[in-house]
Amino acid sequence: MALIVQKYGGTSVGSVERIKNVARRAIKWADAGHQVVVVVSAMSGETNRLIAMAREIQPDPDPRELDVVASTGEQVSIGLLAMALKAQGREARSYTGFQVGIRTNSAFTKARIESIDQTRMRADLDAGMIVVVAGFQGVDDAGNITTLGRGGSDTSGVALAAALGADECLIYTDVDGVYTTDPRVVPEASKLSTITFEEMLEMASLGSKVLQTRSVEFAGKYRVRLRVLSSLTPWDIPLEQEMRSGTLITFEEDQTMERAVVSGIAFARDEAKITVVRVPDRPGIAYQILSAVGGANIDVDMIVQNQSVDGYTDFSFTVGRGDYARTLDILKTSIQAHIGAKDIIGDPKACKVSIVGVGMRSHAGVASKMFRTLSEEGINIQMISTSEIKVSVLIEEKYLELAVRALHKAFDLDAQAS
Ligand code: ADP
Ligand code: ASP
Ligand code: MG
Repeated sequence: MALIVQKYGGTSVGSVERIKNVARRAIKWADAGHQVVVVVSAMSGETNRLIAMAREIQPDPDPRELDVVASTGEQVSIGLLAMALKAQGREARSYTGFQVGIRTNSAFTKARIESIDQTRMRADLDAGMIVVVAGFQGVDDAGNITTLGRGGSDTSGVALAAALGADECLIYTDVDGVYTTDPRVVPEASKLSTITFEEMLEMASLGSKVLQTRSVEFAGKYRVRLRVLSSLTPWDIPLEQEMRSGTLITFEEDQTMERAVVSGIAFARDEAKITVVRVPDRPGIAYQILSAVGGANIDVDMIVQNQSVDGYTDFSFTVGRGDYARTLDILKTSIQAHIGAKDIIGDPKACKVSIVGVGMRSHAGVASKMFRTLSEEGINIQMISTSEIKVSVLIEEKYLELAVRALHKAFDLDAQAS
């Protein structure tokens, strides 16, 4: 008997019929003798609808109250799923994050899980029930409802699996695994049967929303066996087949396998670039610029400082597009005059495209092949950043699809090529 945590995303619980199917699938696992904890997201579109309503009332919603509103979508899903399980003759119980003791810090809208109380779940599992837990939400020490950031139900699933010492965490979604890139953008993308933890972490943090980055971090920290698979297959496919389907996130590189140099391509659409023009090139300038931005809780990603000319330099960095206007404003009002910069300019329509692969460690010339491919398409690179297993470039957003497709082909990732 194994303990399995299954997480179903928005599309997978997007209708009453799909919720019934989730119940059938969970019962199939329970009937095979496994203990099953199911984590669910809000029905597809629901979290967006809730946030949009909040914004109609307060354009920049109060974070505590936004979490009160945004967390409700998951509560509907858990109640409906528990009913579906009972209607199909299986004992089940639903829990919100608060009820089941998912403790987080107080960073509303992007809270981090700190601890999970297993007591009620264990008792229910031992009594033969299927436990249904709301994803995306928790409670802080003061009893406030918190949410874990968009896509946070993945993290709820993996964190529950870690806390319970589950044998496997299955992330059921609307694609049948992790692909070489988003199959909605590149139809030729191929499914990976395994991906290393490091690569998955890079892919997620560089924009592949198939898994929330923190869920991958959790899996790494607690060595959770994690698999991404489809919820849209017939619910009654044989268990043995389902257990081997999708993509397994692995912790050891399989040395015997012939690995591609580049395993995947990730992209993030909503980037913006800011340039502080002609600042005196002296110690403390980068610190002053970035501490003003960081102080307003704005995350900075790529950073470039040019070679100085006549004691002056340009300093560029990227932020999320949602923070663009605020960043410009902060720099113009409180920093520009202070550091003696000539101007603050920017481009809110940038995007980041990254190639990822552990194979890069042992291969030279990967970055230059990427740059050549982009130049052949006439795409100008605005910024570059690298690590041991990835190269990222910032480009104009209108070239995103073209860049991803060209790179996918150039690095032999198209399905028919492999
Ligand atoms: P869920 O609601 O199940 O959490 P998401 O929409 O959050 O689903 O994530 C699944 C989506 O992630 C897919 O529909 C796909 O468009 C997108 N995606 C992005 N990159 C990848 C990738 N490399 N492999 C598979 N899917 C990806
Ligand atoms: N419902 C939340 C969202 O849409 C959490 C999730 O689906 O993972 O972001
Ligand atoms: Mg998701």
